[in-house]
Amino acid sequence: MSQTVNLDRPVRVRFAPSPTGGLHIGGVRTALYNYAFAKKHQGKFLIRIEDTDQNRFIEGAESYIFEALRWLGLNADESPEVGGSFAPYRQSERKTMYRQYAEQLVASGNAYYAFDTAEELENMRKELEKAGAKNLSYNALTRTNMTNSLTLSPEETKKRIEAGDNYVIRIKIPKKEDIRFFDIVRGWVNVHSSTLDDKVLMKSDGMPTYHLANVVDDYLMEISHVIRGEEWLPSAPLHVFLYQSFGWVDKMPQFAHLPLLLNPDGQGKLSKRKAAEYGFPIFPLDWYEKEKNITIDGFREKGYLPEAINNFLALLGWHTSSDEEVFSLEHLIESFDLERIGKAGVRFEIKKAEWFNQYYIRLKTNEQLLQYLKETLSNLKVNTDFDDEKLLKICNLMRDRITFPQDIYLEAKYLFEVPTQYDAKAITKNWQGEGLAFVDFCQNNLSTLKNNWEGENIKHHLHEWVEQNGYKMGKVMPALRLAVSGVSGGADLGMIMEIIGFENVLQRIEIAKKTIVITN
Ligand code: GLU
Repeated sequence: MSQTVNLDRPVRVRFAPSPTGGLHIGGVRTALYNYAFAKKHQGKFLIRIEDTDQNRFIEGAESYIFEALRWLGLNADESPEVGGSFAPYRQSERKTMYRQYAEQLVASGNAYYAFDTAEELENMRKELEKAGAKNLSYNALTRTNMTNSLTLSPEETKKRIEAGDNYVIRIKIPKKEDIRFFDIVRGWVNVHSSTLDDKVLMKSDGMPTYHLANVVDDYLMEISHVIRGEEWLPSAPLHVFLYQSFGWVDKMPQFAHLPLLLNPDGQGKLSKRKAAEYGFPIFPLDWYEKEKNITIDGFREKGYLPEAINNFLALLGWHTSSDEEVFSLEHLIESFDLERIGKAGVRFEIKKAEWFNQYYIRLKTNEQLLQYLKETLSNLKVNTDFDDEKLLKICNLMRDRITFPQDIYLEAKYLFEVPTQYDAKAITKNWQGEGLAFVDFCQNNLSTLKNNWEGENIKHHLHEWVEQNGYKMGKVMPALRLAVSGVSGGADLGMIMEIIGFENVLQRIEIAKKTIVITN
């Protein structure tokens, strides 16, 4: 890793999503890296919406992107929402300004008009195929046989344009030239122009393609570094060539193409299908797919905390020299460095995300957890007359035992409801002999604790009773736990009993004795 990041210009970076559906989690990582890099260098983080392809327009996708980034705290300094001095930041609102740039390239001989109809293009493809050509594209070799301003006379070209013939503007890729550029992640990249085709810059409907709009906007918005996913690496030589053709080389941003996110098995690019198979989300928020009328799970709704997602994503491709793991957004900003991004694809290990979620839940105060618990109870329509004091006790009891906020309730349902079922294994193992005798003993003696019904005190006496009666702890406690909670494991039994309350514990013992006899 060499010292290669150029910081001579003010740092201005952009996240440039196309609103074509739910935002893939890989896109979120791109946004995070851009954000961290900008903030580290007191630069600006922009959001630019690349929506020139009307055919791929999906309603709601843009607001989804904003909501997701807001949830993660990745707030833009300039965007369609907050504005900025380079506005507009939505390409569909900039569409009239691209034509002049395409025309500029035609005038300088770096682009040309192409009038070929869909049928002609198809014929070219077929003929090339017949001739055994592997590369079936419109390029330096094939363009000489097509209908364009390179093969037509200037008069004919003019006539066609004036007559309103359909045409596109294509880049004129040189036949034999090396296109060389520096990528912060990959080092020097060398591509021979013969491997590139004459991509369309301006479509026949007058709209720019991604390539033209992207490069023109990066230039106009004074973007200093382009940090984006590896899937855009094949487009980079064309972009570099565009900067050269426009004469903007001294304003060309530095590129950093981020490594691919791989499926957990390391096989292939992280896909929706594989994520579903492994049972984890791939979108930051729930995404409603209108055509299929289905909702695809989001990390937020699954109970992931934004801090955990940011931390997890931060390490998918980047690490520090000390291999430190815990990064709040602030700490990430301090530590982030484009030079420490690896080239190799990174597996998406969801267990790690869960680990971070547990970690960040533990950093929450009980009062913060209380808000989550109340949300869960209201979402699941659980009626309870527990006051805040009791709910806070539950939060405190469960905080070290959960992965997701909703687990405060889901893992401790027995605190809220009388069990209707009892763990079958625990019944077989413990609902007999000594266990039953201890449950009876408790039923008769718990009233002595009534006036000091407090977890520690309850626990202390339970232990004392076990000792006094010569019972074996491992045999009798599970029986009492089963009667009180219906399950075989869980939080501290003394605290469970405190929270449930004296009367209710007695009632539960009574119910258990009746019910378990029947079911056993
Ligand atoms: N609009 C492209 C996308 O959807 C942007 C790629 C880039 O950052 O240049 O990812």
